[in-house]
Amino acid sequence: MRAALLASYHSPLELTELPEPQPERAGDVVVRVGGAGVCATDLHSIDGWMEEAGVRPPRVLGHENAGWVEAVGEGVSSVRVGDPVVVYPAYSCGLCLPCRRGDDMRCVNGRFTGLSADGGFAEHLLTTERSLVKLAPGIDPADVAPHADAGITAYHAVRKVCHLARPGSVSVVIGIGGLGHIGLQLLRELGSGTVVAIDADERCRRLADELGADHVAGAGQVVEAARDLTGGRGADVVIDFVGSSSTHADSLAALARGGTYSVVGYGGTLSAPSISLVANEQSVVANLVGTWPDLYELLELHSAGKVVLRTERHHLEEVNDVLEMLRRGEVFGRAVLVPG
Ligand SMILES: [Zn+2]
Ligand SMILES: [Zn+2]
Repeated sequence: MRAALLASYHSPLELTELPEPQPERAGDVVVRVGGAGVCATDLHSIDGWMEEAGVRPPRVLGHENAGWVEAVGEGVSSVRVGDPVVVYPAYSCGLCLPCRRGDDMRCVNGRFTGLSADGGFAEHLLTTERSLVKLAPGIDPADVAPHADAGITAYHAVRKVCHLARPGSVSVVIGIGGLGHIGLQLLRELGSGTVVAIDADERCRRLADELGADHVAGAGQVVEAARDLTGGRGADVVIDFVGSSSTHADSLAALARGGTYSVVGYGGTLSAPSISLVANEQSVVANLVGTWPDLYELLELHSAGKVVLRTERHHLEEVNDVLEMLRRGEVFGRAVLVPG
């Protein structure tokens, strides 16, 4: 099969022929890839930052995958050949304590598609029955592939704070990109109150406006916007999809007493005097991907037309151009690679 392989760090992916994966163990499923979303984490993998997450060349990247069931191993009963599916990126055993608690992201026997196991920048990928969510009829896998990571990460983060987005509250979303444009809609759908969208890019601010933000402001205006809209009280919730040192500082400065800062993007350093967090009883919450039920629930919202996903399609052979576009900040919404 055709695949884009991370053969070594700091170099373009190698477009090559690899043996087609086959079901090896009971519960294995081979998926014919219909679309694979391209994520900033793929850049981090190429840059050699993701060894702790299990990336070791040679590896096929791609962790936001959807397609059709191509072959099933022994004992598979919940899907059949031909079913359209989204691939939840974490493998989970179902038997360990985190799995039994429903926290399949933290399975002690877990692996992750496109990081510690081969992913979807290819024509086929090997996963297990437990990782699949069946798609409703009429949904094209390439249109929903980014929900497998960008979408569930946003969903997981919003679900944790949406009870705080009460009527009369002010919530700020920083970064209206691949994740943030979904997070903004989810805050509307699962919460209430006023939603403020912040982005440095004018096109992203326009998108935020289209997707229902009550107020839209530029990157340097987080604190000002939060204070203006609350008579100086500050934001009840800030969800930060950027995670730079400056968005960390702005988010904490914009927060109301009793407010919650939800961190999704990463890379910066967050520092705060503990006396200020204690005196103001503020919370900082971090988020990593999401659970299988998060993905299931998000797809329910998608099927009901309550979440719109902005994607642009590219051929798998264009993977290196797409990665460079993403590095330059030129991808609007989410880029999806389509093989064949
Ligand atoms: Zn990702
Ligand atoms: Zn487990």
